[in-house]
Amino acid sequence: MDLYADIIIDISHSKLDQTFQYRIPPELAGMLEPGDVVELPFGNSNRLVKGYVLRVSRELSCPPEKLKTIARRVNESRGTESKLISLALWMRDYYGSTTIQALRTVLPFRNTVPEKKKKRVVLAADLQTAEQELETFRKKHQTARARLLEALLEEPVLPQEVVTGTLRITKPVLQSLEEKGLIRCETEQVYRTPAILQKLRSEAENRLEITAAEVVETPVTGFALSEEQQAAVDAVSQSMDEGYKEFLLHGVTGSGKTAVYMELIARTLGQGKQAILLIPEISLTYQNVVRFYHAFGDRISILHSRLTQAERYDQFERAKMGDIDVMIGPRSALFTPFEHLGLIIIDEEHEPSYKSESTPRYDARETARKRAELEKSILVLGSATPSLESYYAAERGMSTLLSMQNRPTGGSLAKVTVVDMRNELREGNSSILSRALTEKLRDTLERGEQSMLFLNRRGYAGFVLCRSCGHVMKCPHCDVSLSLHEGGRLVCHYCGYERPALHKCPKCGSPFIGGFKAGTQQIEAVVAELFPKARILRMDADTTRGKDGHAEILRAFGHHEADILVGTQMIVKGHDFPGVALVGALAADMSLNVSDFRAAERTYQLLVQAAGRAGRGEIPGEVVIQTYQPDHYAITCSASQSYEPFYEQEIDYRTLSGYPPTGSMMTVHCAAADEEQLKQAAAYLARFASHVASKYQAAVMGPSREPVSKIKDIYRMAIYIRHKDGQVLTAVKNYMEQYIGMNSGFSDILINFER
Ligand code: ADP
Ligand code: ZN
Ligand code: ZN
Repeated sequence: MDLYADIIIDISHSKLDQTFQYRIPPELAGMLEPGDVVELPFGNSNRLVKGYVLRVSRELSCPPEKLKTIARRVNESRGTESKLISLALWMRDYYGSTTIQALRTVLPFRNTVPEKKKKRVVLAADLQTAEQELETFRKKHQTARARLLEALLEEPVLPQEVVTGTLRITKPVLQSLEEKGLIRCETEQVYRTPAILQKLRSEAENRLEITAAEVVETPVTGFALSEEQQAAVDAVSQSMDEGYKEFLLHGVTGSGKTAVYMELIARTLGQGKQAILLIPEISLTYQNVVRFYHAFGDRISILHSRLTQAERYDQFERAKMGDIDVMIGPRSALFTPFEHLGLIIIDEEHEPSYKSESTPRYDARETARKRAELEKSILVLGSATPSLESYYAAERGMSTLLSMQNRPTGGSLAKVTVVDMRNELREGNSSILSRALTEKLRDTLERGEQSMLFLNRRGYAGFVLCRSCGHVMKCPHCDVSLSLHEGGRLVCHYCGYERPALHKCPKCGSPFIGGFKAGTQQIEAVVAELFPKARILRMDADTTRGKDGHAEILRAFGHHEADILVGTQMIVKGHDFPGVALVGALAADMSLNVSDFRAAERTYQLLVQAAGRAGRGEIPGEVVIQTYQPDHYAITCSASQSYEPFYEQEIDYRTLSGYPPTGSMMTVHCAAADEEQLKQAAAYLARFASHVASKYQAAVMGPSREPVSKIKDIYRMAIYIRHKDGQVLTAVKNYMEQYIGMNSGFSDILINFER
């Protein structure tokens, strides 16, 4: 029986949406795999071109008379491009998407991005000849020729614009001089450089040259590593060259993880390999990029969301050409096409931003693991508050745990006070600020030190809380909080359970039950009233909308141009402010009540990261955590900044309820402009899913509204499927994808899978 291959020709050019089917010749049967490079006859002339195998099958999908046969397999074929194609195909199969969607996520596309070329005119003849010719032109009154030669004798390389513009030289003149061998017209590919790197580069040129040679010889960080840091570096370095291996670097806030990353990157470069460092976009600050630029100079490049598509494309091109060795950026930097990728580091690996929200909804951590396997490189995940998934993997020996418990700067972890807000209300204080926090704010101001007040806004829109006893309304079926909807109805976002509005707390009878509402603006106003002389900065989505609003606020606060910074969770992530003595977490437990099985984990992470902001410099730090649930383990464990006790309790909850990482869960997101149509389609899909899932004893929940049920007039619903074994979910997904593809009723619904 014949075998056929779907082929994509030349991925760097347009026409990517086009795949071609070819016959696999008998001698190659069973030998071709997706990602392999082959040569095949193409076009009317049947000239041989290179192509990549995407799929091998027995189904013929084009008229047999049009079918051509693959000429041969190109050996030594598994280059970067092949590996990236394999990675894309894995993403397609695991997360669910079309081949094109997956390829577009992984590979940069030239078709939409014009190359930027620079033309120049170069003096090709030796000086003597040029001078003789110049004389001749002058005598013959060939003034244009004379003008050009004169200029080139002064400056042997001239940009094309100068030649055709200022010097007004025409094409025929250039041609004739080129034919005479007097000049050469050259084209040079220029790469667009991200603005922040341009700035650093010109600063460096003005001060000191940083060259690759210097980088190798001087320690990259400028200080000696601590014992813990050195141990971590040694453990990872010993495994370099041994193929794929994974590490989890669990280091408390301020333990100096960045220095470890730098040293590992330096060693990777020393072996002639390249490195990718993923960091959340919000931590990609000038301050952070400078550190890397000082260590690695022009060998680094960065990606971030404000780059144009052309700039982004060029950074990938530079990586492919060997122009750079280190790429720093958010999750999409993972796909940098380095030829010898030795190391991938994911900093703050617990951050939710490592999950993509467009199809395929890939998780950069899982995808990095896959890429590291394909490239035989090292993967290092780093965090002060590892995700349950990563710690669970380390516990089961899938990765090696490295831990750093101390701050090399000597600063100790902050002293934490937990304030029970139920008591505050009982004792007559109904302000957003507890008495303890108010006192400490006053003291800190008087000492001329800085404070940060952080409002945990995750789940803000949401839940219903009794301010007298702290009771939160939960779904009787799902063990997550109910959220407040129009008219006071309470809704579960997993199973769709609903109940009417409440006027009394079912637990203690208090009438102080309702949606919790407080914004950063309100807090700013309260603080300003209490401390009229304090200089206050506010940072939230409203104040950071401008181009560099976010960076500007951080800079101003870093230079002590304000005493108090009020903001949402964006102020606690990865910033190093040595002047901060006090951090207040207002409504610390707000995020505990989000209807999400990761609510406790997110809360713990936010609080520990927030506490980590205090006491980074010489000043000892203090933290106040305000909460209605002082006994919840996410609160008590973040107060003591201990990870293992938190992990133990949280993993028990996940195991009991079958949530990841002990079980597997897949979310099917459905979105459409027409709400009725969406409801109907989601119901059909859920019924089909239940039918398939019942064969495997998998559980299907929903459809129900998503936590944010409408965005920009697009309605959103979700279906949840759980099973112990992730492979079962893949099988269910495959059936669902087929079903969706065959039913035109789904064509107006955007459907994708998250896992
Ligand atoms: P983390 O990312 O683990 O929270 P950082 O990498 O930001 O911590 O380091 C915290 C601070 O400690 C930084 O200011 C860094 O320069 C400093 N630091 C790191 N390692 C050392 C060391 N070995 N000696 C002195 N200072 C260090
Ligand atoms: Zn109550
Ligand atoms: Zn429920």
